Amino acid sequence: DCLRQAAPEEVELIVNYLSGTLPQGRIGLGPAIIRNLAGSEPAREATLSVQEVDDAFQLITETRGKGSQQARRENLGRLFARATTDEREFLIRLILGELRQGALEGVLVEAIADAVDVPAAEIRRAVMLAGEPARVAAAVLGEGRAGLALFQLVPMSPIQPMLAQPAEGMDDAMESLGKAALEYKLDGARVQIHKVAGEVRIFSRGLNDVTNSLPEIVDATLDLPAHSLILDGEVIALRANGRPHPFQLTMRRFGRKSDVKELSATLPLNVFLFDCLYRDGQQLIDLPTRERFANLTDAAQDDLLIPRTETHDPDAANAFLAKALAEGHEGVMVKSITSPYAAGNRGAEWLKVKLAHTLDLVVLAAEWGSGRRRGWLSNLHLGARDAKDGSFVMLGKTFKGLTDKVLKWQTQRLLELEIGREDYIVHVRPELVVEIAVNEIQASSQYPSGMALRFARVKQYRNDKGPGDADTVDTVRELFRRQTGATE
Ligand code: AMP
Repeated sequence: DCLRQAAPEEVELIVNYLSGTLPQGRIGLGPAIIRNLAGSEPAREATLSVQEVDDAFQLITETRGKGSQQARRENLGRLFARATTDEREFLIRLILGELRQGALEGVLVEAIADAVDVPAAEIRRAVMLAGEPARVAAAVLGEGRAGLALFQLVPMSPIQPMLAQPAEGMDDAMESLGKAALEYKLDGARVQIHKVAGEVRIFSRGLNDVTNSLPEIVDATLDLPAHSLILDGEVIALRANGRPHPFQLTMRRFGRKSDVKELSATLPLNVFLFDCLYRDGQQLIDLPTRERFANLTDAAQDDLLIPRTETHDPDAANAFLAKALAEGHEGVMVKSITSPYAAGNRGAEWLKVKLAHTLDLVVLAAEWGSGRRRGWLSNLHLGARDAKDGSFVMLGKTFKGLTDKVLKWQTQRLLELEIGREDYIVHVRPELVVEIAVNEIQASSQYPSGMALRFARVKQYRNDKGPGDADTVDTVRELFRRQTGATE
C-alpha cells in the first residue's frame, strides 16, 4: 500500500529508507551526538515528508569546512524537532545503519512485486542486476513490467559477483550439496571480464575498471573466438613452478597504474576462469552452474580454466582438497551444479572450504552447559591479547571440539580461576590458553574489536603456554585483513 500510494518522485527514497539505506551514506556526525540531539522535545504530529527528510540529509552532508560540525548539528537538530518520537527513532536507526525492522530487501522485493502485480522472481532478478531495489521499484511503479527491460545483463556493464559462504569442512560442504562442482580456490583477485568484438574491459570485485593494469589478461581474452562474453574468474601471480606467489604480490600488480609494462614482464599474472555469464548475445545467468561451465569450456581453452572436478564422493572431494592445498592454494570452492548465478549473493550454493587457521587464545569466561552438558562449564569465551596494555579482547565463543574428559577438567580448572558470575556465565582470571581452529575471521559489530571467529573449535588446551604467549589482537586483525584484502 505504501508503495502504491507513493508519489513517483518519492518511490526511490521510500524504498531506500525501508531497506535501511540512507542514500547519503554517512552524515558526518557520531552516534553520541546524534542520540544527544534526539533528547529534545519531539513533534506531536507527523508532518514531515520523505522529500523534506532527504533535503535535510543532503544539506547536512554538503556542509563542509570551518564550523561545519556545529552547522550539521543544528540542521539535524532542526530535522529532529519536526519529527515525532517514532519518526525520530526511525531516523536515528537509518542514520546509524541499525534499522532491523524486518522490511529489508527480501520483503521489499515481494512488496514491489505485489504493488505492480509482477512475479517476485522477475523483480528479484532485476534487483540482483541493478545491485539495489530502489531503481527497480521506481521503474516498475512507473512503467509496469516494461520497466524491467532496463535491468538486463549487457556486456561492458558489470554486475555484482556471486559470493560464497564458509563451510565448516569438506564433509559438511559435500553433505549439504550432494553432487557438486569442486574448483580450486585461488588466493588472488576476482575479475569480471567483458568482451565485445575487439574490445575487452576488466572489472574488479568492487566493480572498478582495472583493464589498464592487466594487459596480459586483455590479450588472452581478446583472442577468444566468441564475439561477446562476460566471464568470471580469478587472477593470480604464479611462480615458475606453478605455485602461487604470496597474495601481496598479486595485489602489487592488481590495480596498479604506473610501470604496468615493466612489472608485467617480471611479475606476470594468470587468469583462471570459473564462470560464463554471457556469450554471443545470450544471457546465461539463469542457467544451472553446470551449463554455464559447459559454455565456458566451449568459449575458452583449457589453460584459462580453473582446475575443476564434479563428484558426489566425499573421499574424492577430500583428495581434491588435499591436492589443491599441496599445490599451495587456499582451498576449494564447492558449488551446487544446479544453481543459477546469484549476483551479489553470499548464499549456500557456493561454499568455500579452506584450511583452518589455529590461534592460541585465552579463556575469559565459560557458560554452564545444558542438556547432556548440564553441570559442566561448556561454552568458552575466547580472547586475544592486546599487546599495548596486556588486556584481553573477546573474539568469540565455542563449545565445539570438547571431549567429556576435557569438559570435566576445564570445569574444575575454571572454577578455581573464578572471579565472578552473572546468570549462567562464570568469569575467570585470564590464565588458560587454548588452541582454537577457526575457518575464518568475520567482521562483527558484536565485539569491540569489530571481528568475530567463524566456526571456532577447540583443538587442545596449551598448558605449556601462559596468557602472555597468546596470540594478539593485531595478529588476528592481520589475518582478517588478508582475508578481506584477498577478496576486494
Ligand atoms: P569470499 O570473498 O570469501 O566469499 O570468497 C570468494 C572469493 O574467492 C571470490 O570473490 C574470488 O575472488 C575467490 N575465488 C578463488 N577461487 C574461486 C573459485 N574457484 N570460484 C569462485 N571464487 C573464487
